[in-house]
Amino acid sequence: MTTTFIHDMPAQRVVFGSGATAKVAEEAERLGIARALVVATPGSGQRLGEQVLARLGPRGAGLHAYAVTHVPRPVAEAGLAAARAANADGLVAVGGGAAIGLAKAIALSTGLPILALPTTYSGSEATPIYGTSDGERKITGRDNKVLPKTILYDPDLTLGLPAAISAASGMNAIAHCVEALWISACTPVITAISTESVRLFGAYLTSVVDNGHDIEAREQCLIAAWLAGSALVVGTALHHKLAHVLGGLGLPHAETHAIILPHVTRFNLEQAPAVKARLAQAMGVADPAARLAEMLRGFPIPQRLSEVGMAKDKIGFAAEEVGKLNLREPRPASTADVRAILDAAF
Ligand code: NAD
Repeated sequence: MTTTFIHDMPAQRVVFGSGATAKVAEEAERLGIARALVVATPGSGQRLGEQVLARLGPRGAGLHAYAVTHVPRPVAEAGLAAARAANADGLVAVGGGAAIGLAKAIALSTGLPILALPTTYSGSEATPIYGTSDGERKITGRDNKVLPKTILYDPDLTLGLPAAISAASGMNAIAHCVEALWISACTPVITAISTESVRLFGAYLTSVVDNGHDIEAREQCLIAAWLAGSALVVGTALHHKLAHVLGGLGLPHAETHAIILPHVTRFNLEQAPAVKARLAQAMGVADPAARLAEMLRGFPIPQRLSEVGMAKDKIGFAAEEVGKLNLREPRPASTADVRAILDAAF
């Protein structure tokens, strides 16, 4: 069998290190940003936003701390209005996938450059993928315009990330890697970074959940998150399609990924022996799906779809939505297969 692939990964500047937030004004200047709108989530996210705004000094044009998961349309419109009112020429997103997602929605309409300071493990900072929601419909797309030009990783900003969010967003990131490995578009670079990311999360995610102030573990998980986000660029299959449909039903993003990951992995690895061997080696176990299930059990997050708002009578709908996509990588997934996965995860 011959090998063919296309590797097309847009470039980003990545600045990593404890205390790197101090460089935010310098990095904004490098991007030609003189009036940055800082975008964050409310609550603890707002405090992170205030910290970053202070560091921006005269380059900070204001803080908009109203980001919400899945970026509902009115939230995106309010963000756009805030950027216009501040006469912003750039966006500094600090927080998890919600803050970065809102910055992406603003950038999609305005073309403003994004400088991202990620504080969870979602990996959104490393992808040109954006998502918004309109009622029960989740819309995603891809545009290099929304890819952050620079990522500034400061592990210190993640020390206060609660255990449950560390666990759920870490499992979300592992899902990017596992899925990248079993789709045919995977390239040698994606294989290498996905494998390394899974190795790092396998070694350190439990440590950050147990002790959020373990700075070495925080650093390693943030590196793993960067690699996982980078792997997502290659595309998605059953796991993300299923999570997407469940997200449309109103289920929480990262927690839903975490719950279904061991089940989808068990299903797919039955017919993907090379991926199974690679994951087994990266995690130092014989059965990667069992290891993921074990990690989930040890985390202080919901364990079943029934615990995150899934109605039993929606299982059939979700199975049909995914079944009709006729997914075939790495193995065909019929409506009955998806239903069995959902029943097990319920
Ligand atoms: P999130 O951004 O919703 O954050 C969860 C909570 O954690 C928020 O309340 C936030 O304020 C808080 N938080 C974040 N950082 C903190 C910190 N350092 N200390 C204390 N609290 C902190 O959750 P998430 O899992 O990072 O992101 C989920 C979103 O990201 C979803 O909307 C999902 O669709 C999107 N996503 C997008 C991509 C992509 O490539 N486009 C990839 C993954 C996820």
